[in-house]
Amino acid sequence: MTKKLLILGAGTGGTIMANHFVRRLDRSEWSITVVDRDDVHYYQPGQLFIPFGI
Ligand SMILES: Cc1cc2nc3c(=O)[nH]c(=O)nc-3n(C[C@H](O)[C@H](O)[C@H](O)COP(=O)(O)OP(=O)(O)OC[C@H]3O[C@@H](n4cnc5c(N)ncnc54)[C@H](O)[C@@H]3O)c2cc1C
Repeated sequence: MTKKLLILGAGTGGTIMANHFVRRLDRSEWSITVVDRDDVHYYQPGQLFIPFGI
């Protein structure tokens, strides 16, 4: 039976964890699901560029 890893939140933390585990877990044994209420993630540190028109 496939083992399941559920990650709640596809923001910075969720994305880092998904990338971390997808490289380390055996893909034939594990499935990874990431759940978020939004289809789009806005990288928050990038918002610092907005006031400067970058
Ligand atoms: C302007 C700005 C600049 C920043 N600069 C830096 C920096 O230079 N360096 C640094 O280390 N940090 C910086 N940060 C902080 C950093 O962005 C946050 O600490 C980091 O994004 C937090 O990651 P997180 O995964 O906890 O939350 P988030 O990245 O916010 O992700 C949370 C996710 O959970 C989802 N979610 C929440 N509630 C629910 C729900 N009920 N159901 C479904 N989905 C849900 C959201 O949609 C979101 O996608 C900055 C933040 C801001 C605003």
